[in-house]
Amino acid sequence: MIHNRSQEAFEKAQKFIPGGVNSPVRAFRSVERSYPIFIKKAKGNRLWDEDGNEYMDYLGSWGPMILGHNNERVLAAVKECLEDGSSFGLPTSMEVELAELIVNSVPSIEMVRLTTSGTEATMAAVRVARAYTKKNKILKFEGCYHGHSDSLLVKAGSGLLTEGYQDSNGITAGVTSDTLTLPFGDLDKVRELVAADKEIACIIVEPVPANMGLMKTAKEYLQGLREICDSEGIVLIFDEVISGFRLALGGAQEYYGIEADITTLGKIIGGGYPVGAFGGKREIMEMIAPLGDVYHAGTLSGNPISVRAGYETLTMLRDNPSIYTELEEKVDYLTGEIEKAAAEEGVDLVINKLGSLYTIYFTAAEKIENLEDVMATDTSKYITFFNTMLEEGIIVSPSKFEAHIMSIAHTKEDLERTIAAARKAFKVIA
Ligand code: PLP
Repeated sequence: MIHNRSQEAFEKAQKFIPGGVNSPVRAFRSVERSYPIFIKKAKGNRLWDEDGNEYMDYLGSWGPMILGHNNERVLAAVKECLEDGSSFGLPTSMEVELAELIVNSVPSIEMVRLTTSGTEATMAAVRVARAYTKKNKILKFEGCYHGHSDSLLVKAGSGLLTEGYQDSNGITAGVTSDTLTLPFGDLDKVRELVAADKEIACIIVEPVPANMGLMKTAKEYLQGLREICDSEGIVLIFDEVISGFRLALGGAQEYYGIEADITTLGKIIGGGYPVGAFGGKREIMEMIAPLGDVYHAGTLSGNPISVRAGYETLTMLRDNPSIYTELEEKVDYLTGEIEKAAAEEGVDLVINKLGSLYTIYFTAAEKIENLEDVMATDTSKYITFFNTMLEEGIIVSPSKFEAHIMSIAHTKEDLERTIAAARKAFKVIA
Protein backbone atom coordinates (compact mmCIF):
# COMPACT_ATOMS: atom_id res chain seq x y z
CA MET A 1 0.00 0.00 0.00
CA ILE A 2 1.19 3.49 -0.79
CA HIS A 3 0.96 6.02 2.03
CA ASN A 4 2.81 9.01 0.59
CA ARG A 5 0.17 11.53 1.51
CA SER A 6 -0.14 10.24 5.06
CA GLN A 7 3.62 10.46 5.41
CA GLU A 8 3.66 14.04 4.11
CA ALA A 9 0.74 15.01 6.34
CA PHE A 10 2.55 13.59 9.37
CA GLU A 11 5.74 15.48 8.55
CA LYS A 12 3.77 18.71 8.54
CA ALA A 13 1.69 17.71 11.58
CA GLN A 14 4.80 17.21 13.70
CA LYS A 15 5.77 20.84 13.16
CA PHE A 16 2.55 22.16 14.62
CA ILE A 17 1.08 19.49 16.90
CA PRO A 18 3.07 17.68 19.62
CA GLY A 19 3.87 14.25 18.20
CA GLY A 20 1.77 15.15 15.17
CA VAL A 21 -1.45 13.91 16.79
CA ASN A 22 -4.16 15.13 19.14
CA SER A 23 -4.35 11.87 21.11
CA PRO A 24 -1.21 9.75 21.63
CA VAL A 25 -2.21 6.28 20.36
CA ARG A 26 -3.11 7.75 16.98
CA ALA A 27 0.61 8.17 16.25
CA PHE A 28 1.04 4.39 15.63
CA ARG A 29 4.37 4.47 17.50
CA SER A 30 3.02 1.52 19.47
CA VAL A 31 3.00 -0.58 16.31
CA GLU A 32 6.47 0.60 15.29
CA ARG A 33 5.35 2.67 12.33
CA SER A 34 7.08 5.95 11.59
CA TYR A 35 3.81 7.68 10.71
CA PRO A 36 0.09 7.00 11.14
CA ILE A 37 -2.45 6.87 8.33
CA PHE A 38 -4.40 10.08 7.88
CA ILE A 39 -8.10 9.47 7.33
CA LYS A 40 -10.08 11.45 4.80
CA LYS A 41 -13.55 9.92 5.08
CA ALA A 42 -15.59 7.01 6.39
CA LYS A 43 -18.83 5.21 5.65
CA GLY A 44 -20.33 2.14 7.29
CA ASN A 45 -17.39 0.04 8.46
CA ARG A 46 -14.98 1.48 5.89
CA LEU A 47 -12.31 4.18 6.22
CA TRP A 48 -10.42 5.82 3.35
CA ASP A 49 -7.04 7.45 3.89
CA GLU A 50 -5.50 10.49 2.20
CA ASP A 51 -3.92 8.22 -0.43
CA GLY A 52 -7.27 6.65 -1.30
CA ASN A 53 -6.57 3.30 0.41
CA GLU A 54 -9.67 1.59 1.80
CA TYR A 55 -9.74 -0.14 5.20
CA MET A 56 -12.24 -2.22 7.10
CA ASP A 57 -12.55 -0.62 10.53
CA TYR A 58 -12.46 -2.38 13.91
CA LEU A 59 -11.60 0.79 15.83
CA GLY A 60 -15.01 2.44 15.53
CA SER A 61 -13.39 5.74 16.55
CA TRP A 62 -12.56 3.98 19.86
CA GLY A 63 -16.20 3.27 20.65
CA PRO A 64 -18.86 5.65 19.36
CA MET A 65 -19.56 4.10 15.95
CA ILE A 66 -21.79 1.19 16.95
CA LEU A 67 -24.02 1.94 13.93
CA GLY A 68 -21.03 2.34 11.62
CA HIS A 69 -19.73 5.64 10.26
CA ASN A 70 -22.09 8.23 8.83
CA ASN A 71 -25.21 6.22 9.47
CA GLU A 72 -27.88 7.56 7.08
CA ARG A 73 -30.39 8.43 9.77
CA VAL A 74 -27.85 10.14 12.01
CA LEU A 75 -26.40 12.02 9.04
CA ALA A 76 -29.79 13.26 7.85
CA ALA A 77 -30.69 14.48 11.36
CA VAL A 78 -27.36 16.27 11.78
CA LYS A 79 -27.71 17.97 8.38
CA GLU A 80 -31.16 19.20 9.36
CA CYS A 81 -29.80 20.45 12.67
CA LEU A 82 -26.86 22.29 11.09
CA GLU A 83 -29.25 24.58 9.28
CA ASP A 84 -30.46 25.89 12.65
CA GLY A 85 -27.06 26.79 14.08
CA SER A 86 -24.24 25.08 15.91
CA SER A 87 -24.18 26.29 19.53
CA PHE A 88 -26.38 28.70 21.46
CA GLY A 89 -25.14 28.66 25.05
CA LEU A 90 -28.80 28.39 26.05
CA PRO A 91 -30.94 25.29 26.62
CA THR A 92 -32.62 23.34 23.81
CA SER A 93 -35.49 20.85 23.91
CA MET A 94 -33.37 18.17 22.28
CA GLU A 95 -31.05 18.10 25.33
CA VAL A 96 -34.07 17.21 27.44
CA GLU A 97 -35.11 14.49 24.97
CA LEU A 98 -31.64 12.94 25.13
CA ALA A 99 -31.58 13.19 28.93
CA GLU A 100 -35.00 11.48 29.13
CA LEU A 101 -33.83 8.73 26.81
CA ILE A 102 -30.74 8.13 28.96
CA VAL A 103 -32.77 8.13 32.19
CA ASN A 104 -35.28 5.68 30.70
CA SER A 105 -32.52 3.39 29.44
CA VAL A 106 -30.10 3.18 32.39
CA PRO A 107 -32.02 2.01 35.46
CA SER A 108 -29.83 3.70 38.09
CA ILE A 109 -29.84 7.13 36.43
CA GLU A 110 -32.58 9.43 37.73
CA MET A 111 -31.01 12.67 36.53
CA VAL A 112 -28.20 13.31 34.07
CA ARG A 113 -25.87 16.17 33.11
CA LEU A 114 -24.29 16.39 29.66
CA THR A 115 -20.64 17.26 29.13
CA THR A 116 -18.39 17.49 26.07
CA SER A 117 -16.16 14.50 26.80
CA GLY A 118 -15.88 11.39 28.93
CA THR A 119 -13.02 13.03 30.82
CA GLU A 120 -15.27 15.84 32.00
CA ALA A 121 -17.94 13.34 32.98
CA THR A 122 -15.68 11.29 35.27
CA MET A 123 -14.05 14.41 36.70
CA ALA A 124 -17.45 15.85 37.66
CA ALA A 125 -18.70 12.48 38.94
CA VAL A 126 -15.80 12.29 41.38
CA ARG A 127 -16.40 15.87 42.51
CA VAL A 128 -20.06 15.31 43.30
CA ALA A 129 -19.26 12.00 45.05
CA ARG A 130 -16.82 13.84 47.30
CA ALA A 131 -19.38 16.53 48.09
CA TYR A 132 -22.09 13.95 48.79
CA THR A 133 -20.00 11.81 51.15
CA LYS A 134 -17.95 14.67 52.63
CA LYS A 135 -14.89 12.44 52.13
CA ASN A 136 -11.84 13.04 49.95
CA LYS A 137 -10.29 9.87 48.60
CA ILE A 138 -10.93 7.91 45.41
CA LEU A 139 -10.32 4.22 44.85
CA LYS A 140 -9.63 3.18 41.26
CA PHE A 141 -8.22 0.03 39.70
CA GLU A 142 -4.89 -0.50 37.96
CA GLY A 143 -5.25 -0.42 34.18
CA CYS A 144 -8.70 1.20 34.19
CA TYR A 145 -8.80 4.49 32.31
CA HIS A 146 -11.21 7.25 33.20
CA GLY A 147 -10.01 10.11 31.02
CA HIS A 148 -7.19 12.55 31.61
CA SER A 149 -8.17 14.58 34.66
CA ASP A 150 -5.40 14.82 37.27
CA SER A 151 -6.85 12.66 40.02
CA LEU A 152 -7.69 9.78 37.66
CA LEU A 153 -4.37 9.60 35.81
CA VAL A 154 -2.91 7.29 38.41
CA LYS A 155 -2.07 3.67 37.43
CA ALA A 156 -4.16 4.40 34.35
CA GLY A 157 -4.73 2.26 31.27
CA SER A 158 -5.28 3.06 27.60
CA GLY A 159 -2.74 5.35 25.90
CA LEU A 160 -0.56 5.56 29.01
CA LEU A 161 -0.02 1.80 29.06
CA THR A 162 0.62 1.88 25.33
CA GLU A 163 3.21 4.63 25.80
CA GLY A 164 4.85 2.57 28.55
CA TYR A 165 3.93 4.36 31.77
CA GLN A 166 0.93 4.61 34.06
CA ASP A 167 1.23 7.88 35.97
CA SER A 168 1.33 11.17 34.08
CA ASN A 169 3.98 13.73 34.84
CA GLY A 170 2.72 17.16 35.88
CA ILE A 171 0.33 16.04 38.62
CA THR A 172 1.03 17.09 42.21
CA ALA A 173 1.75 14.59 44.97
CA GLY A 174 -1.09 16.25 46.87
CA VAL A 175 -3.57 15.18 44.20
CA THR A 176 -2.26 11.66 43.71
CA SER A 177 -2.15 10.99 47.46
CA ASP A 178 -5.96 11.13 47.42
CA THR A 179 -6.17 8.49 44.68
CA LEU A 180 -5.79 4.95 45.96
CA THR A 181 -5.32 2.06 43.55
CA LEU A 182 -5.71 -1.71 43.67
CA PRO A 183 -5.45 -4.49 41.10
CA PHE A 184 -8.73 -5.18 39.31
CA GLY A 185 -10.67 -8.26 40.35
CA ASP A 186 -9.58 -8.81 43.97
CA LEU A 187 -12.46 -8.10 46.38
CA ASP A 188 -10.52 -9.05 49.50
CA LYS A 189 -8.03 -6.28 48.82
CA VAL A 190 -10.90 -3.80 48.46
CA ARG A 191 -12.41 -4.97 51.76
CA GLU A 192 -9.05 -4.60 53.54
CA LEU A 193 -8.49 -1.12 52.17
CA VAL A 194 -11.93 0.28 53.00
CA ALA A 195 -11.69 -1.21 56.50
CA ALA A 196 -8.39 0.59 57.06
CA ASP A 197 -9.23 3.92 55.39
CA LYS A 198 -12.49 5.67 56.23
CA GLU A 199 -11.79 8.64 53.94
CA ILE A 200 -12.87 6.94 50.70
CA ALA A 201 -15.61 8.93 48.94
CA CYS A 202 -16.01 6.77 45.86
CA ILE A 203 -14.96 3.64 44.06
CA ILE A 204 -14.71 4.27 40.33
CA VAL A 205 -14.53 1.28 38.01
CA GLU A 206 -15.02 0.39 34.38
CA PRO A 207 -17.55 -2.41 35.01
CA VAL A 208 -16.07 -4.11 31.99
CA PRO A 209 -12.51 -2.80 31.72
CA ALA A 210 -11.64 -2.10 28.09
CA ASN A 211 -8.50 0.00 28.48
CA MET A 212 -6.03 -2.78 29.35
CA GLY A 213 -7.48 -4.78 26.54
CA LEU A 214 -10.87 -6.25 27.42
CA MET A 215 -11.44 -7.97 30.76
CA LYS A 216 -14.39 -10.26 31.42
CA THR A 217 -15.73 -9.12 34.77
CA ALA A 218 -17.28 -11.68 37.11
CA LYS A 219 -20.75 -10.63 38.26
CA GLU A 220 -19.73 -11.45 41.85
CA TYR A 221 -17.01 -8.82 41.66
CA LEU A 222 -19.40 -6.00 40.78
CA GLN A 223 -21.89 -7.34 43.31
CA GLY A 224 -19.12 -7.32 45.93
CA LEU A 225 -18.20 -3.71 45.13
CA ARG A 226 -21.87 -2.77 45.41
CA GLU A 227 -22.12 -4.37 48.86
CA ILE A 228 -18.90 -2.79 50.13
CA CYS A 229 -20.05 0.66 48.98
CA ASP A 230 -23.46 0.19 50.62
CA SER A 231 -22.02 -0.88 53.94
CA GLU A 232 -19.29 1.79 54.05
CA GLY A 233 -21.23 4.80 52.70
CA ILE A 234 -19.07 4.96 49.56
CA VAL A 235 -20.41 6.13 46.21
CA LEU A 236 -20.06 3.51 43.48
CA ILE A 237 -19.24 5.06 40.11
CA PHE A 238 -19.52 2.89 37.02
CA ASP A 239 -17.54 4.44 34.21
CA GLU A 240 -19.59 3.26 31.25
CA VAL A 241 -18.02 5.60 28.69
CA ILE A 242 -17.25 2.49 26.60
CA SER A 243 -19.76 -0.07 27.89
CA GLY A 244 -22.77 2.29 28.04
CA PHE A 245 -25.31 1.51 25.29
CA ARG A 246 -22.77 -1.00 23.91
CA LEU A 247 -23.20 -4.11 26.03
CA ALA A 248 -26.92 -3.42 26.31
CA LEU A 249 -29.13 -0.34 26.17
CA GLY A 250 -28.63 0.01 29.93
CA GLY A 251 -24.91 -0.77 29.59
CA ALA A 252 -22.98 -3.13 31.84
CA GLN A 253 -25.46 -2.39 34.64
CA GLU A 254 -28.26 -3.97 32.66
CA TYR A 255 -25.99 -6.76 31.42
CA TYR A 256 -24.96 -7.72 34.97
CA GLY A 257 -28.09 -6.55 36.82
CA ILE A 258 -26.11 -4.35 39.24
CA GLU A 259 -26.74 -0.65 39.71
CA ALA A 260 -24.24 2.15 40.28
CA ASP A 261 -24.84 5.34 42.29
CA ILE A 262 -23.31 7.49 39.55
CA THR A 263 -22.73 6.44 35.94
CA THR A 264 -20.50 8.16 33.43
CA LEU A 265 -21.20 7.95 29.73
CA GLY A 266 -19.68 9.20 26.46
CA LYS A 267 -18.87 7.89 22.99
CA ILE A 268 -22.10 6.20 21.74
CA ILE A 269 -24.42 8.78 23.33
CA GLY A 270 -23.04 11.41 20.94
CA GLY A 271 -23.35 9.27 17.82
CA GLY A 272 -19.78 10.16 16.83
CA TYR A 273 -19.91 13.83 17.89
CA PRO A 274 -18.21 15.24 21.05
CA VAL A 275 -20.12 14.31 24.19
CA GLY A 276 -20.09 12.91 27.70
CA ALA A 277 -22.58 12.59 30.54
CA PHE A 278 -22.80 11.75 34.21
CA GLY A 279 -25.96 10.78 36.00
CA GLY A 280 -27.29 8.98 39.00
CA LYS A 281 -29.48 9.18 42.04
CA ARG A 282 -31.57 12.33 42.30
CA GLU A 283 -30.31 13.25 45.78
CA ILE A 284 -26.70 13.15 44.52
CA MET A 285 -27.37 14.97 41.25
CA GLU A 286 -29.34 17.71 43.00
CA MET A 287 -26.11 18.84 44.66
CA ILE A 288 -24.95 20.22 41.30
CA ALA A 289 -25.15 23.95 40.51
CA PRO A 290 -27.48 25.79 40.10
CA LEU A 291 -29.45 23.64 42.61
CA GLY A 292 -26.44 23.05 44.87
CA ASP A 293 -22.89 24.30 45.17
CA VAL A 294 -21.01 21.52 43.32
CA TYR A 295 -19.91 23.38 40.24
CA HIS A 296 -20.11 21.90 36.78
CA ALA A 297 -20.47 23.81 33.50
CA GLY A 298 -19.42 23.80 29.83
CA THR A 299 -19.68 26.18 26.88
CA LEU A 300 -20.42 23.28 24.53
CA SER A 301 -22.17 20.99 27.05
CA GLY A 302 -25.34 19.66 25.44
CA ASN A 303 -24.20 20.91 22.04
CA PRO A 304 -27.18 20.72 19.66
CA ILE A 305 -25.38 18.74 16.94
CA SER A 306 -23.95 16.14 19.35
CA VAL A 307 -27.25 15.84 21.18
CA ARG A 308 -29.23 15.26 17.97
CA ALA A 309 -26.72 12.68 16.67
CA GLY A 310 -26.84 10.96 20.06
CA TYR A 311 -30.61 11.03 20.18
CA GLU A 312 -30.93 9.37 16.75
CA THR A 313 -28.32 6.77 17.68
CA LEU A 314 -29.89 5.85 21.01
CA THR A 315 -33.37 5.77 19.50
CA MET A 316 -32.20 3.32 16.85
CA LEU A 317 -30.62 1.13 19.53
CA ARG A 318 -33.75 1.31 21.71
CA ASP A 319 -36.09 0.47 18.84
CA ASN A 320 -33.95 -2.41 17.53
CA PRO A 321 -32.95 -4.49 20.56
CA SER A 322 -31.85 -7.36 18.28
CA ILE A 323 -28.80 -5.22 17.40
CA TYR A 324 -27.15 -6.37 20.62
CA THR A 325 -27.62 -10.07 19.98
CA GLU A 326 -26.54 -9.67 16.36
CA LEU A 327 -23.34 -7.87 17.39
CA GLU A 328 -22.57 -10.55 19.95
CA GLU A 329 -23.19 -13.31 17.40
CA LYS A 330 -20.80 -11.66 14.96
CA VAL A 331 -18.08 -11.39 17.61
CA ASP A 332 -18.67 -15.01 18.68
CA TYR A 333 -18.33 -16.23 15.10
CA LEU A 334 -15.32 -14.05 14.26
CA THR A 335 -13.35 -14.81 17.40
CA GLY A 336 -14.22 -18.53 17.23
CA GLU A 337 -12.85 -18.74 13.68
CA ILE A 338 -9.78 -16.67 14.60
CA GLU A 339 -9.09 -19.06 17.48
CA LYS A 340 -9.39 -22.03 15.11
CA ALA A 341 -7.07 -20.43 12.54
CA ALA A 342 -4.51 -19.63 15.25
CA ALA A 343 -4.57 -23.21 16.53
CA GLU A 344 -4.12 -24.58 13.00
CA GLU A 345 -1.16 -22.26 12.39
CA GLY A 346 0.39 -23.09 15.77
CA VAL A 347 -0.05 -19.66 17.36
CA ASP A 348 -0.98 -19.41 21.04
CA LEU A 349 -3.51 -16.77 21.91
CA VAL A 350 -6.30 -15.87 24.29
CA ILE A 351 -9.32 -13.87 23.18
CA ASN A 352 -11.39 -12.02 25.77
CA LYS A 353 -14.80 -11.07 24.40
CA LEU A 354 -18.02 -9.58 25.67
CA GLY A 355 -20.88 -8.32 23.52
CA SER A 356 -19.45 -6.34 20.62
CA LEU A 357 -15.97 -5.97 22.16
CA TYR A 358 -12.97 -8.29 22.08
CA THR A 359 -9.18 -8.29 22.49
CA ILE A 360 -6.62 -10.71 21.11
CA TYR A 361 -3.67 -11.47 23.41
CA PHE A 362 -0.70 -13.46 22.14
CA THR A 363 0.19 -15.72 25.03
CA ALA A 364 0.50 -19.34 26.06
CA ALA A 365 -1.37 -18.51 29.28
CA GLU A 366 -4.84 -19.99 29.70
CA LYS A 367 -6.60 -16.79 30.69
CA ILE A 368 -6.08 -13.07 31.00
CA GLU A 369 -7.75 -11.58 34.05
CA ASN A 370 -5.91 -8.41 35.07
CA LEU A 371 -3.23 -5.95 34.11
CA GLU A 372 -0.39 -8.15 35.30
CA ASP A 373 -1.58 -10.92 32.94
CA VAL A 374 -1.85 -8.45 30.03
CA MET A 375 1.65 -7.08 30.66
CA ALA A 376 3.05 -10.60 30.27
CA THR A 377 1.50 -11.13 26.81
CA ASP A 378 3.64 -10.86 23.67
CA THR A 379 3.74 -7.30 22.34
CA SER A 380 5.91 -7.97 19.30
CA LYS A 381 3.49 -10.63 18.03
CA TYR A 382 0.65 -8.18 18.47
CA ILE A 383 2.59 -5.60 16.45
CA THR A 384 3.11 -8.12 13.62
CA PHE A 385 -0.60 -8.94 13.79
CA PHE A 386 -1.58 -5.27 13.52
CA ASN A 387 0.78 -4.54 10.63
CA THR A 388 -0.21 -7.62 8.63
CA MET A 389 -3.88 -6.80 9.08
CA LEU A 390 -3.22 -3.22 7.98
CA GLU A 391 -1.52 -4.41 4.80
CA GLU A 392 -4.61 -6.57 4.19
CA GLY A 393 -6.74 -3.42 4.46
CA ILE A 394 -8.07 -4.03 7.97
CA ILE A 395 -7.54 -1.67 10.88
CA VAL A 396 -7.59 -3.18 14.35
CA SER A 397 -6.56 -1.51 17.58
CA PRO A 398 -2.93 -0.31 17.37
CA SER A 399 -2.37 -1.48 20.93
CA LYS A 400 -2.88 -4.72 22.83
CA PHE A 401 -4.25 -2.52 25.64
CA GLU A 402 -7.38 -1.54 23.70
CA ALA A 403 -10.47 -3.42 22.54
CA HIS A 404 -11.46 -4.31 18.97
CA ILE A 405 -14.93 -3.06 18.22
CA MET A 406 -17.74 -4.53 16.10
CA SER A 407 -20.43 -2.43 14.41
CA ILE A 408 -23.73 -3.29 12.78
CA ALA A 409 -22.12 -2.39 9.43
CA HIS A 410 -19.82 -5.45 9.44
CA THR A 411 -21.20 -8.11 7.07
CA LYS A 412 -20.66 -11.88 7.02
CA GLU A 413 -18.40 -11.33 4.02
CA ASP A 414 -16.35 -8.80 5.99
CA LEU A 415 -15.94 -11.30 8.80
CA GLU A 416 -14.70 -13.97 6.34
CA ARG A 417 -12.17 -11.50 4.94
CA THR A 418 -11.02 -10.66 8.47
CA ILE A 419 -10.57 -14.35 9.32
CA ALA A 420 -8.53 -14.93 6.14
CA ALA A 421 -6.34 -11.89 6.93
CA ALA A 422 -5.85 -13.06 10.51
CA ARG A 423 -4.71 -16.48 9.20
CA LYS A 424 -2.10 -14.71 7.04
CA ALA A 425 -0.92 -12.80 10.09
CA PHE A 426 -0.65 -16.05 12.09
CA LYS A 427 1.50 -17.60 9.34
CA VAL A 428 3.91 -14.65 9.70
CA ILE A 429 3.85 -14.88 13.50
CA ALA A 430 4.27 -18.68 13.74
N1 PLP B 1 -13.68 6.53 30.52
C1 PLP B 1 -13.42 5.49 29.73
C2 PLP B 1 -13.79 4.11 30.18
C3 PLP B 1 -12.82 5.67 28.48
O1 PLP B 1 -12.55 4.62 27.71
C4 PLP B 1 -12.51 6.99 28.08
C5 PLP B 1 -11.88 7.23 26.78
O2 PLP B 1 -11.50 6.36 26.05
C6 PLP B 1 -12.80 8.05 28.93
C7 PLP B 1 -13.39 7.79 30.15
C8 PLP B 1 -12.50 9.46 28.53
O3 PLP B 1 -13.35 9.87 27.52
P1 PLP B 1 -12.92 11.04 26.51
O4 PLP B 1 -11.81 10.49 25.68
O5 PLP B 1 -14.18 11.32 25.74
O6 PLP B 1 -12.49 12.18 27.35
